[in-house]
Amino acid sequence: MRIGIMGGTFDPIHMAHLVLAEDARERLGLSYVLFIPTGDPWLKREKPLASPAERLRMVELAVESNAFFHALDVEVRREGPTYTADTLEYLRGDLTPQDELFFMLGMDSLAELPRWYRPNRVVELCSPVAFRRPGVSEHVLEAAMKAAPLLRRKLILMDTPLLDVSSTDIRQRVAEGRSIRYLVPDAVEEFIRENRLYQTYS
Ligand code: ATP
Repeated sequence: MRIGIMGGTFDPIHMAHLVLAEDARERLGLSYVLFIPTGDPWLKREKPLASPAERLRMVELAVESNAFFHALDVEVRREGPTYTADTLEYLRGDLTPQDELFFMLGMDSLAELPRWYRPNRVVELCSPVAFRRPGVSEHVLEAAMKAAPLLRRKLILMDTPLLDVSSTDIRQRVAEGRSIRYLVPDAVEEFIRENRLYQTYS
């Protein structure tokens, strides 16, 4: 099996996450894609505004209409900082040696790779799949490849549409009372409204 993994803070999950994962699923012939919200995203400067349970619920709502997409709670259940290397080791435990893991990430996340815990181990355990992102230059690749030399051989650069959507922008729009329709799935928009998430922006 070829299994896609989409990790993220998902504060909240948005359309770019879904569009890019669907594109990768189709192009790479993935059997399914696991969406894994992080418990404690220790590399992000700001802590998430929504709780782990709320972020997980929004992911569940966002993926429920796609039979190839599944939400996984493995990281929100884990205590302490979330390390991708641990998650990949955990997932590999249930797989055969023939199964392949494809870890999807935006170019901005790839830029952070040198700061990750055991970056080369991460790349040993999966094939990283990178999406270009508006405002992020591909120059970040050099530093990432220095931190994890295996990347040079394993990285898959996906030529997907550039989508200028971010969770930061969505949180800001909600705080300003502006529409987020079409930027997140309808069910996620409703969940944000009902739970009064992101009313104040910090
Ligand atoms: P924030 O604005 O809070 O930093 P975000 O929009 O980057 O959030 P995350 O949950 O951090 O959302 O993203 C999960 C993964 O999806 C990361 O690897 C990120 O780089 C990637 N990603 C998110 N939005 C895009 C986008 N518009 N284009 C390409 N990659 C994206």
